[in-house]
Amino acid sequence: MQNKEKEAGREQSRSVSPYRAGFLGRCPKCGEGAFFKPMSLDIRDTCDVCGFDLRAADPGDGAQVFVILIMGAIAALVGFILIGGMHMPPWLAMTIIFALILFGSIWMLRVFKATLVALQFHHDAAEGRLTDGEDKDA
Ligand SMILES: [Zn+2]
Repeated sequence: MQNKEKEAGREQSRSVSPYRAGFLGRCPKCGEGAFFKPMSLDIRDTCDVCGFDLRAADPGDGAQVFVILIMGAIAALVGFILIGGMHMPPWLAMTIIFALILFGSIWMLRVFKATLVALQFHHDAAEGRLTDGEDKDA
């Protein structure tokens, strides 16, 4: 009985696209509730729509790595275009690049963090466990 309820919950969660939920910053289970606390990059404890417990969600440092690599490449490309291609004064180009990095990184962190957690939930990702409950090496 409990397994059927668990399976039903999983089926419902799989109807929500993890990429859509992540991009919009929504709950990975229902796709409706907010994923982040207001004006923050912190994950909520529970979904305010379906009550799904988000405390187990742990994207680690994965989102930061993606954002550093992608924003670094974008900032370098924009710098080459603004200074090398458009001959913009360096102080103005640096101001534009700084704003791009600041706001772009915050936006991308929200998207990547929510998407990684949604993908973990969608694929039932968790630490490995032995099925028979005993450690075979012991
Ligand atoms: Zn929800």
